[in-house]
Amino acid sequence: MDDRFDLIVVGGGTAGLAAAIEACDGGLRVLVVEKDSRIGGTLHTTGGHVAGAGTRRQIQRGIQDSPDVWLKDIARITRGLFREDIIAPVVEHAHEFVDWLDDNGFAFDPSTPRIIYGHEPYETPRTHCGIDAGLSILAVFKPLLEAHIEAGRAQLWLNAPVTELLTDGAGAVTGVTAYTGGRDVQVTAPAVLIATGGFGADPEMFADLVGLPLVSGAHPTATGDGLLLGEAVGAGLQGDGVYLPTFGGLPHPTTPGRVQWEERPLLTATERLPWEIYVDKHGKRWVREDELSIDAKERALVDVEDLTFWTVFDDRAVDESVPMVVNWTPDDVRQRANVRAGVHKADSLVELAQAAGIDPDGLLDTVERYNEAVDAGGPDETGREFLPARIEKAPFYAMRNHGVTLVTFIGLDVDGQARVRRSDGSTIDGLYAAGEVIGATATTGQSFCSGMLITPSVVHARLFAARLAAGQR
Ligand SMILES: Cc1cc2nc3c(=O)[nH]c(=O)nc-3n(C[C@H](O)[C@H](O)[C@H](O)COP(=O)(O)OP(=O)(O)OC[C@H]3O[C@@H](n4cnc5c(N)ncnc54)[C@H](O)[C@@H]3O)c2cc1C
Repeated sequence: MDDRFDLIVVGGGTAGLAAAIEACDGGLRVLVVEKDSRIGGTLHTTGGHVAGAGTRRQIQRGIQDSPDVWLKDIARITRGLFREDIIAPVVEHAHEFVDWLDDNGFAFDPSTPRIIYGHEPYETPRTHCGIDAGLSILAVFKPLLEAHIEAGRAQLWLNAPVTELLTDGAGAVTGVTAYTGGRDVQVTAPAVLIATGGFGADPEMFADLVGLPLVSGAHPTATGDGLLLGEAVGAGLQGDGVYLPTFGGLPHPTTPGRVQWEERPLLTATERLPWEIYVDKHGKRWVREDELSIDAKERALVDVEDLTFWTVFDDRAVDESVPMVVNWTPDDVRQRANVRAGVHKADSLVELAQAAGIDPDGLLDTVERYNEAVDAGGPDETGREFLPARIEKAPFYAMRNHGVTLVTFIGLDVDGQARVRRSDGSTIDGLYAAGEVIGATATTGQSFCSGMLITPSVVHARLFAARLAAGQR
């Protein structure tokens, strides 16, 4: 294969791989430039939930769904805060992607499509995923890309961070500079797709753009490179001022500022009714723990100091409210207390507060008032109605949680056809973006709609590549 390319894809992750495969299918010559030593990006970390309306699997299971119904569900969950020009084609075409996965041997989790309750739930079962989360998607993408490489339609450069976009005198993007083999290499193409993901693993950019403390569960390569590359050639940003953490996460056992997604406290009341209370560092409660809407809890968390709270419960709750943490048995809770970072146990509430870093007087007062509400049969001062038992049986437990950043909401502004725009709304010739680099606000507002990061990443990438292959710009 010679070194003339029709398309350079910056980032061989979720969106980038989808675009590269589709573009090669359409006869284009594609270069994928990836900074990591392997392809896949966040597919190595993600839950891998993909949504689709009118998929073959839905039809086989008698599930009635349509793009219109799905769009209404998204509008309800996001309260209308999403880009309709971006999402309309996604809901229209997502079923083609899910069926395409199916055609290419995707290992579906047999329980899907289903409704996911970890986020504000859709009204229709339309979330699909593989048995191996994001890796099931990668297992489809990888051999398809390899076949295109083998056939000479694609090239893949690994360990090759793109450091700069090349432009001509009129400001059009004409290629990239990548650092590879110990030197800067310039390569040109009439189209460059930025598919570098979000910035949820970059504390500095996060502080700069979001202004809140970062505790991250994002994939480590999500360092916002695409935003910097785009801004350097005049791109505008969208999603400014929007942020929503995922609700709760224990501190990472060894790495400050990170969490382990696999080991998350189960805090959705639709999945486990809470026997615990949530307190801030002053020992004050700030939301009713039995709130069924996880979205309402996530929004309340944004106003909690340091985005940090503790779940506080007694020994009886350990047996009655299971699992406190995904995959943990009651014995795990008892054994990991005072061993695993963020999990505390003590014989009195005062000792517990001191060990955990909560104000002891505040906690004592809060537990006393909670217990009074239990005795009175509720509801309590937060409006909580599920009041199963007093918090009184020692030992007492506190688990430290932080609002967790899995995805970032600010990104490059694009039009409905993935063309990157300047802040005056004009498009930058030759430059396109897809995936989380456009910011989650565009696709899921200030909320989490199931599948509404991966699905738009892939569907937009595929549509863009198909347009390019058809000669449209
Ligand atoms: C724990 C977790 C669970 C999630 N669960 C879901 C879910 O179930 N459903 C859902 O829809 N979303 C989910 N998400 C979000 C979703 O997975 C991501 O938003 C999406 O996969 C991002 O795709 P992307 O193509 O934009 O970026 P990525 O898949 O991260 O790909 C970006 C690629 O670009 C490369 N790159 C970056 N900078 C450069 C550079 N300068 N030069 C060259 N290469 C570069 C990176 O190394 C990476 O390979 C989850 C996220 C996390 C962290």
